[in-house]
Amino acid sequence: MKFGGTSVEGAAAFKNAAGIVFDRQALRPVVVVSAMAGFTDALLGSAQRALDGSFVEGATTLEKHVDRHRRVIDALLCQEAQRMLALVDQSRAEIEELLKMAVTEVSDANAGPGRERRKFFEDAIVSYGEQLSAAMFAAVLIENKVLSSEVDARRCIITDNQYGCAAPLMAETLRNTREQLQPLIESSCIPVLGGFIGSTSTGETTTLGRGGSDYTAALIGAALEAKEIQIWTDVPGVLTADPRLVSHARTVPHLSFEEAAELAYFGAKVLHPKTLHPAIERDIPVRICNSRAQESGSTLVVGETKKSPQTVKAIAHKTGVTTVQVTSTRMLGAYGFLRALFEIFAEHKTAVDVVTTSEVSVSLSLDDTTALPAIVESLERLGTVSIEEGRAILCVVGEGLRSTPGIAARIFSTISDINVSLISQGASRINLTFAVEESRVRETVARLHKEFFESSNSEDAARELNDLGAEVSV
Ligand code: ADP
Ligand code: ASP
Ligand code: MG
Repeated sequence: MKFGGTSVEGAAAFKNAAGIVFDRQALRPVVVVSAMAGFTDALLGSAQRALDGSFVEGATTLEKHVDRHRRVIDALLCQEAQRMLALVDQSRAEIEELLKMAVTEVSDANAGPGRERRKFFEDAIVSYGEQLSAAMFAAVLIENKVLSSEVDARRCIITDNQYGCAAPLMAETLRNTREQLQPLIESSCIPVLGGFIGSTSTGETTTLGRGGSDYTAALIGAALEAKEIQIWTDVPGVLTADPRLVSHARTVPHLSFEEAAELAYFGAKVLHPKTLHPAIERDIPVRICNSRAQESGSTLVVGETKKSPQTVKAIAHKTGVTTVQVTSTRMLGAYGFLRALFEIFAEHKTAVDVVTTSEVSVSLSLDDTTALPAIVESLERLGTVSIEEGRAILCVVGEGLRSTPGIAARIFSTISDINVSLISQGASRINLTFAVEESRVRETVARLHKEFFESSNSEDAARELNDLGAEVSV
């Protein structure tokens, strides 16, 4: 059971989340928690200020967040209060120590610490968010007479040393997780771990990338061959579109692993993109639930689902995308051209999202543009390069989309006045993706949502889906 930042944002949220676990003790849960909402951003901000040379600014911005933790302790703990207040003080001192070390490195190095060293400090500092939440969550359970124990997630999740976005070393992670957690579970003790954090095999703290607590939950679920991986968040499951763009988006009761993975990859923030991989390998259902209103709906993600009556199940989008086009007549009929092109992206450790090609050009989209100047320099050896920033990718997802006639026509006639590029359908059976200008993404999503989910046909279809959903309860 993983609780995100808003599910532990203050005393009332902690109490509510602990209550959800309390009610499910018989299922022998393992709990994974995020940092209190807003704390990760604050910790990263203070690390960055220290790495820019200012300790005072770095430390003072954290004060109000330290107080937020103290307020939760005051409100919810009695016997456990002293131990937790001492832990908060100790964590604060350790964070300050790390901030000071970062400042010292800035003054020692001529050009300041390099990218990797900065990320190393950021990970060490940001990890306190999850560490504190986990300790406090276990304390709240203990205070309520539930046998529980905080487990340092860094003993379970063993990763490479890509600070800021580390990849778990699977064999070690699965083995350590079992070794750490199974004895506790067997003695009916509920383990509580911080999500998002791990450590290298030499013991340095790492993180799995923003939003990575979902991934931690899936890794732990896979290691223990859990019956289900539950992601408790602030919305009633995966919705038909991002609720920040479409306020009346509604719950999708069932998704296949593949559908959920596409949605997560193309921007549905409710699931970290890597969450589904461990679940798919062991065929473990993933359920996304609302910690604020348990009865408001949930999504169950499993291996196979029934085709949605209207085929399209949800629309995801991702902003801040850059598209790159490489044009070269050398590509015509040649072999090895695409390999040479993708090797450049691999060399710079940059992931490519969508790719389309013609006889003489390749267009692709990128999220991470840190290495773009160097990439462009190398690409120019292959052909003429043009870049477009400020784009957004939209992804329409539904099992059976490729084999259903008329979907693409419906999509593009709904937005016929919006300039669309980089159209890709067919690479996967279940999605159609394309790029639009970022400034038009809200309108594009809203119009497609109206077409596919708000017409009278789609209302009937939704009822049918909800009837199916009603068979499953949390
Ligand atoms: P948590 O802190 O629990 O991990 P996140 O903020 O990471 O929560 O993810 C939940 C948020 O994801 C929702 O509040 C919503 O704004 C956003 N979101 C984007 N797309 C979707 C979608 N298709 N369905 C549900 N939520 C979405
Ligand atoms: N606290 C981390 C973040 O905000 C990880 C997570 O919440 O999943 O990115
Ligand atoms: Mg999240």
